[in-house]
Amino acid sequence: MTNHIKIIQPDDWHVHFREGDMLSVVTKYSSRVNRRCIAMPNTLIPITTSAEALNYKKLIEMNAIKKNFEALIPCYLTDNLNISDFEYALQKNIFIGAKLYPNNATTNSHFGVNNIKNIYNIFEILEKNNKILLIHGELNRSDIDIFDREKYFIDEELNHIRSSFKDLKIVLEHVSSDYGVDFVKTNSNISGTITPHHMLLTKKDVFEKDKINPHHYCMPVVKNEKDLISLRKAACFDNTKFFLGTDSAPHHVNDKNQNNPLKAGIFSSPSSIELYASIFEEENALENLEIFSSINGPKFYNLEINRDYLILEKTNFNIPEYTQEENIKIKNFYGNQNINWKAL
Ligand SMILES: [Zn+2]
Repeated sequence: MTNHIKIIQPDDWHVHFREGDMLSVVTKYSSRVNRRCIAMPNTLIPITTSAEALNYKKLIEMNAIKKNFEALIPCYLTDNLNISDFEYALQKNIFIGAKLYPNNATTNSHFGVNNIKNIYNIFEILEKNNKILLIHGELNRSDIDIFDREKYFIDEELNHIRSSFKDLKIVLEHVSSDYGVDFVKTNSNISGTITPHHMLLTKKDVFEKDKINPHHYCMPVVKNEKDLISLRKAACFDNTKFFLGTDSAPHHVNDKNQNNPLKAGIFSSPSSIELYASIFEEENALENLEIFSSINGPKFYNLEINRDYLILEKTNFNIPEYTQEENIKIKNFYGNQNINWKAL
């Protein structure tokens, strides 16, 4: 029986660090096991300029518990970006790429893009500079069912982006459906990140009778058994197109509870790699964990693969129910539950 596994140190390609006290508390959990994290730019005032990106990067790295930890910042795309600053920041590697939030798709996305076709000039710049377009792929329209937002986004927007910018590298973030997995698999120059929660929950865990479980509510919302299985297969057995992105997104418990259940976001940083390891073990695919956690991501982003290693031990890990420090209290995903792996 395997008691330890050794993998190249992972990176997390999708994390929300937030700001203020929340940032200082949550940063240590993401820097606990990862060498690099993409820090999502949907802060209260979104990160849209080179100056804001440099500042945000510094703030996160200052709070990391490991010296060589790196925060990578994508630009938050809006309808009225300063194009010359944007291009400058891409060329200086201040922006790793750009993040497209369709308007009102998730937390702090009300600054997002209203008409995607109006920013095709930005996609052209990304394509020319060989930088990544990161997409929250949901179409949020009143006539579209919440569970079908990813599918509609792919049909009505992503297909068109894909065929208009053939060399543009795209990451479909937090793929949540069988339909999304299929799109990533069958198109070129596109990869997908997969969260632990989309491989552990279905909509029954969120919508229980007439109640919503606020701690399982996220965007894109978790879907059906069929989608969960498809995501597990993609993460564990498709060895090129999918990689680790937790979408760890903390909210203070006072803001996310029974009275306010629709605050989207799940906080999984305290047990991120451990949750993935447990899922890969359940799928009998532990030997593929490293490709997903540490190799496919940097390859797609044109970055070096990490040189250090991480060791996971097979042991009973009881995930604490809360992350609590100073005036911050966050409910941990899978809090109070036992999993089989713990990073040393
Ligand atoms: Zn996110």
